[in-house]
Amino acid sequence: MSSAVFSPSTSVGSRRSQRGRVTSSVGKKPSTFGFYLALAILGVGSGIVLGLPLVDGTLTELKGKGGVAIFLGSVTGLLGTYLALVMVILASRTPILERVLGQVGAIKWHRSLAPWPIVLISAHAVLLTFGYAEAANSGVVKYLGVLFNTFPHLVTATIALGIMVVIGLISIKPIRASIPREYWWLVHLLMYAALILAFAHEVVLGPSFVGHPLAQESWIVAWIVAGILVAFNRVLIPSYRSFKHKLKVVEVQREGPEVVSIIMEGQRLDKLKISGGQFMEWRFLTKGRWWQAHPFTVSAKPRDPYIRITVKAIGDFSSDLSKVPVGTKVFFEGPYGSFTTYSAKVSDRKTAIFAGGVGVTAARSLIEDLPSKSAPVVVYRVSSEEDLVLLDELKELIKHKKGSLHTFVGSREEVPMNDLLKVVDDLRDREIFISGSEGFVEELQRSLLRAGVSYSALHEEAYSL
Ligand SMILES: Cc1cc2nc3c(=O)[nH]c(=O)nc-3n(C[C@H](O)[C@H](O)[C@H](O)COP(=O)(O)OP(=O)(O)OC[C@H]3O[C@@H](n4cnc5c(N)ncnc54)[C@H](O)[C@@H]3O)c2cc1C
Repeated sequence: MSSAVFSPSTSVGSRRSQRGRVTSSVGKKPSTFGFYLALAILGVGSGIVLGLPLVDGTLTELKGKGGVAIFLGSVTGLLGTYLALVMVILASRTPILERVLGQVGAIKWHRSLAPWPIVLISAHAVLLTFGYAEAANSGVVKYLGVLFNTFPHLVTATIALGIMVVIGLISIKPIRASIPREYWWLVHLLMYAALILAFAHEVVLGPSFVGHPLAQESWIVAWIVAGILVAFNRVLIPSYRSFKHKLKVVEVQREGPEVVSIIMEGQRLDKLKISGGQFMEWRFLTKGRWWQAHPFTVSAKPRDPYIRITVKAIGDFSSDLSKVPVGTKVFFEGPYGSFTTYSAKVSDRKTAIFAGGVGVTAARSLIEDLPSKSAPVVVYRVSSEEDLVLLDELKELIKHKKGSLHTFVGSREEVPMNDLLKVVDDLRDREIFISGSEGFVEELQRSLLRAGVSYSALHEEAYSL
């Protein structure tokens, strides 16, 4: 279906915008070396943190009454807050981290670490309460009163712990699945408040910090740096870019029964460094929507002054987008993602691209960046004919790249992976891109590996984080 205002590129040569400007090579694949380096830094940091109680005198108290609980309480507290610091940095979207781990990789690390700070900090509170009560020959409940009266900042630290426990509970899989994602996300942001509330008691009471100015100052600096990274990368830079490019919706175009394209107009979009296949977090500034940002891939590279995303109605937010009023201002964060020609050897090797359903958005814009005559084999799988959105554009683009297009229509439940693979007879000689739902991407990956494709030739974008 053609747009009244936007005519996406279906023929331009690789890596050039409409005005012929060479775009930057954003969206490189995260490096394996970087991954191990990040792991090593995490390990060294944990080692230093675990070493603190060994040198700050806490160890000598082991033999005293309640000493074991006090020692373990200190260790769990330090390790828990250190991991919380790492999680904050992982969520900061700092460009170097994104390059090393990838945006999806950083989120996966953040998610894998998530339970640990809460478990360790809860253990810290329990162990220290028991340890100090034992040392004072007192009952635990009675001693709680003494604790709050004697130690400064303990009330705020306890509120912080309460917030963390609530976040931990609502993040347990079945509970999380029953809460709309955006509400869960809002509550989980309270973690920042909890970390701020807990901070004073760490530096004023922590035996590893009291009387150890170097450790105390390093801890304060580490948290200030983490705070700056978050403020800079999550708030200031996206706000600056959004103000600079001034995006607003100019057209909502129906592509299929549940799919719309949203065309936005902006300023200086030729300066927006985005590669085909990348996504951004989009925030539509209307009543009821402004507080939610959702990831959508550009379905065509920007042609100044326009940029386009194509959205399938899945839940509340995506369904609502078909009604977003023309003129709505749009904020964005990104671009993100390494599903790009810059992460693959597309100049030396041919490509095969598999798109499942609305995964065609990433495939469509990625093809724009492929070298001309790169002869991509494109496999497009949907559950009904009407879901074959952006088909004419795809055909046109693929024709210009001297490639071929194969469409498959059938139930989502039984995707015939082997049939999809059969259309590419030289699979092992190609760089392979897969985009679509998590299930589609993972199952196809497994089939491709079984068919002898090397892991390093696979590039994927799963539409779930
Ligand atoms: C990297 C990436 C690129 C994507 N590109 C496109 C695209 O080009 N076109 C398109 O139609 N869809 C795309 N999606 C999917 C799209 O983000 C979700 O369909 C949309 O956010 C659903 O929100 P909802 O409120 O309508 O539905 P919900 O009912 O809230 O969620 C439906 C599903 O989407 C997931 N989801 C919801 N919100 C988010 C979020 N903020 N971040 C990550 N996952 C979320 C949920 O886990 C759930 O599985 C992409 C997703 C990712 C991760």
